[in-house]
Amino acid sequence: MLGSSAQCLNQHRGSRKSNRLPGVVDVAVKKLHPNRTFVDDLVFSPNVYTTMIQHCLQERPREACGLLSGKGKKACTLWPMTNVLQSPHAFEMDIRQIKAVFRQMEGKGEKLVGIYHSHPTAPPYPSRNNVVHANYPESAYVIVSLSGVKPEVRCFCILNQQVIPIQYRIT
Ligand SMILES: [Zn+2]
Repeated sequence: MLGSSAQCLNQHRGSRKSNRLPGVVDVAVKKLHPNRTFVDDLVFSPNVYTTMIQHCLQERPREACGLLSGKGKKACTLWPMTNVLQSPHAFEMDIRQIKAVFRQMEGKGEKLVGIYHSHPTAPPYPSRNNVVHANYPESAYVIVSLSGVKPEVRCFCILNQQVIPIQYRIT
């Protein structure tokens, strides 16, 4: 599980045309993978939601990235991560930082519920490389787009390179 996180390399260069905006594929995908665990919605605590957007704004023009942990579907704790690429078009997390954060999550009795990153200039949909490197269907993929007047947040389940939009609530 940790090993695949190290490959969170997401190039957005040239990806503007490749937003794989999904149709309604979730039922079909779930039938194909009856034994996998899926995330189908996400709940943010107000504080986590606000802090996530602040982190993304602070890192602009670079992409920000981070992890969300909690219990059930609720994101209770935000873990801002270093984007080791320091790039406006891509992010990669450091495997040692990931391991340290996972240990702290366990210490709090929480599990990974979401992986977020920002798109400073792109819309809030997974890029092709986001999709290729998404290995956590049981975790929500959260994208914060800063390309519009206001930050826009969208959440997805990505399974076997299928992108499924999921709902979120702030409560
Ligand atoms: Zn991305």
